[in-house]
Amino acid sequence: MAQIRIQNVRKDFGAFNAVKSSTFTVEDGEFFMLLGPSGCGKTTTLRMMAGLELPTSGEIYIGGEEVGMKRASERDIAFVFQMFALYPHMNVRKNISYPLVSQGMRKAEVAMRVAEVAKILRIENILDKPVGGLSGGDRQRVALGRAIVRNPKAFFMDEPLGALDAEFREHMAEELRALHDRMGATTVYVTHDQLEAMQMGDKIVVMNHGVVEQFGKPQQIYDWPATKFVAKFIGSPPMNFLEFEGSVTAGSNFVSLSGHRVKVPESRDERLGKLALGVRPEHIRFNDDSIYRGRVVAVEYLGTTQIVTIDTPHGEIKARTPSNQSARVDDLIGLDFDSRNLTIFDSATGNALV
Ligand code: ATP
Repeated sequence: MAQIRIQNVRKDFGAFNAVKSSTFTVEDGEFFMLLGPSGCGKTTTLRMMAGLELPTSGEIYIGGEEVGMKRASERDIAFVFQMFALYPHMNVRKNISYPLVSQGMRKAEVAMRVAEVAKILRIENILDKPVGGLSGGDRQRVALGRAIVRNPKAFFMDEPLGALDAEFREHMAEELRALHDRMGATTVYVTHDQLEAMQMGDKIVVMNHGVVEQFGKPQQIYDWPATKFVAKFIGSPPMNFLEFEGSVTAGSNFVSLSGHRVKVPESRDERLGKLALGVRPEHIRFNDDSIYRGRVVAVEYLGTTQIVTIDTPHGEIKARTPSNQSARVDDLIGLDFDSRNLTIFDSATGNALV
């Protein structure tokens, strides 16, 4: 069992605080994504989980055991780097066997384990080839083979697909996810790519400036972002924010945008002042009867859908609508918002009101 728990973990580099007090749990067998922009502290968090960096304070548990001060080699984990350092003078079989041979495992057992791994990764046919001439995908599989052959408690991966081109990246992402589903090993994966995180992850931690902004399933994070940062970082185009001065009453279902009543999910919180109504592009509807109107500024055709940029009394917003819905530059159109999918944020703190 390899549940991984991070409790109030902090990391300072000299005077610089790279990771603020972070707490979250990776359940046994989960494919878990650490997501955020460059410099947010996701690699540092991963390195602390893997034992390549010591936390300044806080605790890290793997399988219930406190390992914060243990080195990577004592944690029974495997780390998959972006740059796969295969041994160029060895063939595929030797590269994969290496971690077992260096542990002193018996030859017959090594051969059995390598055969198993080759089968899982579907690389039986290249076991005797030198790694030098392999394609990018095969090199990636060999590197994975070397990581999984030890049967570690958990895998840690830092942007493993970062160096690949888009098409191949998508293919390898699917393959990695399928491999995880076959093996069921706890995997922690760093990425700055929100789509990759949404597609691959069972759960996601979103980080910004060393802070865990939100932690949950992809759909929870997409539908109910806890902060404006998360709402902007996830989704393409990102969530629109219609900033307004107003009030929200506990138990009420309406807010007023320049006199236009917008139905929203019921609030449990009271708030008065600068607020923002968060609307995803796909939750905006064109409705000739609506008194809330805007002028079309641009239309971007995407096949079955289109992105329509609209100038409203609350600034420019982007709507994703079916592309057979007529929208031309300069059209004046009435707008409705899908009431189930709106989020209200306190503009001062950026936090969602729940
Ligand atoms: P990226 O995707 O660019 O790697 P990241 O989210 O993984 O970003 P980290 O690598 O964790 O970010 O770095 C977080 C912050 O800590 C950055 O500002 C970085 O410059 C700083 N940092 C990381 N390692 C060190 C170090 N060894 N010494 C000093 N500062 C460091």
